[in-house]
Amino acid sequence: MKFPLASTVSIGKYVAAQQRKGERYPLVLMLEPTLACNIACIGCGKIREYESNRARLSVEECVDAAVQCPAPVVSICGGEPLVYKGIDEVVTQVLELGKTIELCTNALRLEQCLDWFEPSNRLSFVIHLDGMREIHDYVCDYPGLWDIAIDAIKTARASGFRVTTNTTIFKETEVGDVIEMMRYLTNDVGIDGMMIAPGYQYSQIDPALTMTRDEHEEKFRAIRAATKQHGYRWIASPIYQDFLTGRRELTCAPWGSITRNPYGWKGPCYLLTDGIFPTYEALLDGMEWDAYGPGNDPRCEHCGIHCGFEPSAAYEASSSLKETVRSLAWTLTG
Ligand code: SF4
Ligand code: SF4
Repeated sequence: MKFPLASTVSIGKYVAAQQRKGERYPLVLMLEPTLACNIACIGCGKIREYESNRARLSVEECVDAAVQCPAPVVSICGGEPLVYKGIDEVVTQVLELGKTIELCTNALRLEQCLDWFEPSNRLSFVIHLDGMREIHDYVCDYPGLWDIAIDAIKTARASGFRVTTNTTIFKETEVGDVIEMMRYLTNDVGIDGMMIAPGYQYSQIDPALTMTRDEHEEKFRAIRAATKQHGYRWIASPIYQDFLTGRRELTCAPWGSITRNPYGWKGPCYLLTDGIFPTYEALLDGMEWDAYGPGNDPRCEHCGIHCGFEPSAAYEASSSLKETVRSLAWTLTG
């Protein structure tokens, strides 16, 4: 199975209940307890967006965010969550709410922090890995980080934790290096899954760095072909894969992944900040959601990022029996 049964069942129940209501609903809460990080990757959007990264949420505010936002999955990101004092408390209390947690980390401190956590089928460590050793260390501007991350992945898996990776494909990314990484992680490390999605530069900062739709589709056709041929554990849903490879269109569903950071509830998405609101409800009511996505806002034109389009793929999957069966079959295999 691609995902633990307990999470799959509880997310499925949530989606079925929300579909009956017929209103917009989120699937993921992107919780950013701190925007501080212990490394400085080339092109990190957080470092670019926020000049000061000293702001932080309290543990109570983090847990309250998971209470306010009904999303069944909480992706704890940032910044680097493992430099946030109280991350163990946040994880414990959010798990007690019955949510599934994805704790995103660059893994620099993971091995020394492992005993803060208990293995759970609703907790995954998601390790930032942007390619094989040379490329990853260059992107992160940290020689030796790839080896530290791989050792941490192996130790965490040996300690009973579920571990996946998160890879961003940039304009400059050599797809052959990513495919080699997929081979290595699947065959040599035994990774539980790999999330691979296109990055999208904030177009208002440097449009020249932005990957066009044609460019990312070509890269993802190669990634999909390698996945099919070798059984690599790419955890993108079939509809999102169709979209990334140019086989179908999707509208963006920015409300599917809601961002809460130390400045408030931010919209429309992880990338764009057109509004900051004091509560989840105020964000949901206050954004003009239909004004976003390709064709609606020029900043969205070539975007295909995970947090906007994977929810949209999930909503499409749950609205047709054929797509539900296809998605279920994909979830239950591999
Ligand atoms: S690990 Fe993440 S938050 Fe830290 S610098 Fe890199 S991209 Fe930015
Ligand atoms: S397409 Fe969606 S996810 Fe991408 S920048 Fe626009 S609103 Fe954000």
